Amino acid sequence: MKLQFDIVIVGAGPAGLAAAQAAAASGAAIAVIDDNPHAGGQIWRGGPQHSGDARAAQLWAELKQAKNVCFFHRAKVLLPSAPGALLVETPDAALTLHYAKLILATGARERLLPFPGWTVPGVFGAGGIQALVKGGFPVAGKRIVVAGSGPLLLAVAATLKERGAQVVAIVEQASLPRVARFALALLATPGKLLQAIRLRRQLAGIPYHMHSHVLRAEGDEHLTQVLLQIGSRQRTIACDYLACGFGLIPNTETAGALGCTIADGAVWVDRWQQTSVADVYCAGESTGIGGVDLALVEGRIAGLSALGDLAQAAPHIASRRRWQLFAARLANAFRLGEELRHLADLDTIVCRCEDVRHGDLQQQSSWRSAKLHTRCGMGPCQGRVCGGATDFLYGWTQDSVRVPLTPARISSLVAMQDEAR
Ligand SMILES: Cc1cc2nc3c(=O)[nH]c(=O)nc-3n(C[C@H](O)[C@H](O)[C@H](O)COP(=O)(O)OP(=O)(O)OC[C@H]3O[C@@H](n4cnc5c(N)ncnc54)[C@H](O)[C@@H]3O)c2cc1C
Repeated sequence: MKLQFDIVIVGAGPAGLAAAQAAAASGAAIAVIDDNPHAGGQIWRGGPQHSGDARAAQLWAELKQAKNVCFFHRAKVLLPSAPGALLVETPDAALTLHYAKLILATGARERLLPFPGWTVPGVFGAGGIQALVKGGFPVAGKRIVVAGSGPLLLAVAATLKERGAQVVAIVEQASLPRVARFALALLATPGKLLQAIRLRRQLAGIPYHMHSHVLRAEGDEHLTQVLLQIGSRQRTIACDYLACGFGLIPNTETAGALGCTIADGAVWVDRWQQTSVADVYCAGESTGIGGVDLALVEGRIAGLSALGDLAQAAPHIASRRRWQLFAARLANAFRLGEELRHLADLDTIVCRCEDVRHGDLQQQSSWRSAKLHTRCGMGPCQGRVCGGATDFLYGWTQDSVRVPLTPARISSLVAMQDEAR
């Protein structure tokens, strides 16, 4: 089925929703596509109206009123099928969405790093378990260690505690001075400071170890304990689950498939959130990790720029600068330490789809040579999981994007061929 819109937005997280809201007042025909069942992205998963965030509820209420904004949930972009067109797969159809302007707001995912035992059942990504729990996965009474790096660990621990889990420790790799400097700098962003205070209160009594990291997850059929490096000492903690994530990395695949320039692992954009490809804009964490406030303001600028309304977009630039400075402080405080490069041993699996081990990859010189010789990154996730690790461990850049971007039904690809005829 072919559908025509003035603006197509990929991603219904804060950036995509803000872009849609900014553009909606013009009366332009707008489509918002997201592969989740609800709008809201990662932070407002389950729906903006249920998030408890007044900004989210307001955005959603306005967008629901707008007659010119059409949402496609559970819809994933498979590939750019022609200039100005995307092939999108929904649970029951393949659609070709034609656009005059495209806004990519595809967000970020968490970075997972391999360590001995990270494939043992019971070890989760930190954001991964949070998403599962928000979807109903029961954790009440479970002993959980939360480890890795970044403020997401605190948000995850709070969600787990709220759902009845016993969070036994939060293990942060960044050092005390760096975390303390970051906390002090929160004075420049009072909203974030309040959020941090609220989180710390919620997590009172849970040990927060800095300059610490996971060394090994242990258990045969299921995780039973984790070995941690806590400062200069090693300590074993018994637990049912380990939730482990080392910060976030931008989702750049859709932009890459369209030929947009990717720089330093994020989609390159100019002052108006325009990518290197004409009529394609990008906003939110796909342009760099910066949190919800930066995603919202970038979304607004992208929505207005896509309309050509630069006069309305310009006043938001100062606010974006403020949140970009926050993002820079965040990146500096939680940059990953050298010791994390040495967690994996030769037998540790790095590419889980194709069972490729650290020992096999150490002999390779690039992402391309690793793919050719070991099949690393060639499984169903197409490097979404191991790519974040190989980038950090070996300094490899993924130099190409293969389409379809996600596993697709044959009927969707056939439908595209039929349309092209
Ligand atoms: C796992 C995870 C958990 C997080 N939890 C929190 C939290 O608890 N608290 C907090 O403050 N911050 C959290 N964050 C950070 C938060 O996501 C950002 O601050 C902010 O929401 C980014 O907004 P965004 O619109 O750029 O991206 P997102 O919110 O990530 O939205 C992007 C959306 O695009 C969709 N998408 C991507 N590619 C495609 C495609 N090809 N086809 C269709 N849809 C697509 C994604 O499924 C997603 O719904 C989390 C981040 C991650 C990765």
